[in-house]
Amino acid sequence: MPRFFIDTPPGEYAELTGEDARHVSLALRMRIGEELVLCNGQGTDFRCRIEAFEEGCVRLRVLESVPSCTEPQVRVTLFQALAKGDKMDTIIQKAVELGVYEVVPILTARCVSRPDERTFAKKRARYARIAYEAAKQCGRGRIPAVGELLTPPQLCEGFSGFDQVLFFYERAELSLRSIPLEGAHTIAVIVGPEGGFEEEEAAGFIEAGAAPVSLGPRILRCETAPVAALAALLYAMGEM
Ligand code: SAM
Repeated sequence: MPRFFIDTPPGEYAELTGEDARHVSLALRMRIGEELVLCNGQGTDFRCRIEAFEEGCVRLRVLESVPSCTEPQVRVTLFQALAKGDKMDTIIQKAVELGVYEVVPILTARCVSRPDERTFAKKRARYARIAYEAAKQCGRGRIPAVGELLTPPQLCEGFSGFDQVLFFYERAELSLRSIPLEGAHTIAVIVGPEGGFEEEEAAGFIEAGAAPVSLGPRILRCETAPVAALAALLYAMGEM
């Protein structure tokens, strides 16, 4: 069923306007009586029936509200070192499709891309748009947020907020299979930039409580590693 995100929860009736209304009437060619889903982007779906088409507006009757069934039970936050070019766009899109709860970019010693505050604010707005489009396309019930740029020490300070912190590191010996994940509801995933992490950064994460995890003997590109890590983790947690 077609899905659309809305900003405010509807009452008995709702309406779609602008691009969404054009999409319903012109691209999907939906008719009066057909059903679609409105989603508040925070985990609730509203099943609706089309009541009328008016100039630039589709009028809907809300039939029921139900929790979105596409959201993983586990909340995985991806802490991704800022990658150069459009790699970050790809990483965010794929992470949202896979079910990430939130993406937080980190600025590490070997990041090639080092935007100033203003440039990062622009990038963050674009990342948020990519997360929105990906969430809409894949039927998510939430739009994952894209966080502020953090430094490694700031990231370590937040470890206590997670049940498990997985530091994906090519020098790690243990695979995900050896890491206890039962009962973990909030999991942090850390992935490095093109040039990897400096030894001191890696030591800092481990000292602060992160579990170093290997993705196998091959070195994955920084845009491949988060996708592989999230897919393996969500599979291990029974979400795939
Ligand atoms: N330091 C490396 C180098 O320059 O050869 C490569 C860094 S890799 C391109 C980028 C990030 O992907 C790493 O920092 C790590 O987080 C993750 N990664 C890549 N391959 C991995 C593997 N086999 N196991 C765990 N993590 C991996």
